[in-house]
Amino acid sequence: MAFELPSLPYSHDALEPHIDTRTMEIHHGKHHAGYTSKLNAAVAGTELEGKSIEEILTSGTLSAGIRNNGGGFYNHCMFWEVMSPNGGGAPTGDLAAAIDAAFGSLDAFKEAFSTAAATRFGSGWAWLCVKEGKLSVCSTANQDNPIMKGLGCEGTPIMGIDVWEHAYYLNYQNRRPDYINAFFNVVNWEKVAENFKTAL
Ligand code: MN
Repeated sequence: MAFELPSLPYSHDALEPHIDTRTMEIHHGKHHAGYTSKLNAAVAGTELEGKSIEEILTSGTLSAGIRNNGGGFYNHCMFWEVMSPNGGGAPTGDLAAAIDAAFGSLDAFKEAFSTAAATRFGSGWAWLCVKEGKLSVCSTANQDNPIMKGLGCEGTPIMGIDVWEHAYYLNYQNRRPDYINAFFNVVNWEKVAENFKTAL
């Protein structure tokens, strides 16, 4: 069963003005679609064919094709889900309590996450992860992610931000920090809370 590009859970223009329509069209329809088809080509005929994306990414030493495109497939699936036109605001319940416990406050968490995203040199991602029941922030290069082993950024990711230039350059050009601030206006905290619950 080949991997399929998931449909966006909202329209391309739903995250305006924070994430612009054209960026969403290209990002989902070209970049994520490309990772998906290249992942399928990379696993075809290998022992990884038919395995879940989590099984593939934790299966050990990965070829460059599977690492980059498998990571790209997984990361973007999460990225679309943790944003929503009804997002922003603040988390509630157990997630809010865990953020306070780990970082001191929501603002302190936002600062840690934003710093991780802003200081990732070149292309990559910043993550909010759960490890042994505790939240932490880290970042990875390229399409790597925290479920890959040995990167010094490990755990179960529950929220990620794409800081590749393709994620923001049309609207924000070199102003990555402005894009990161805008991301918080569309964070789907309900989905992040659901991911948190699943990861515990
Ligand atoms: Mn991307």
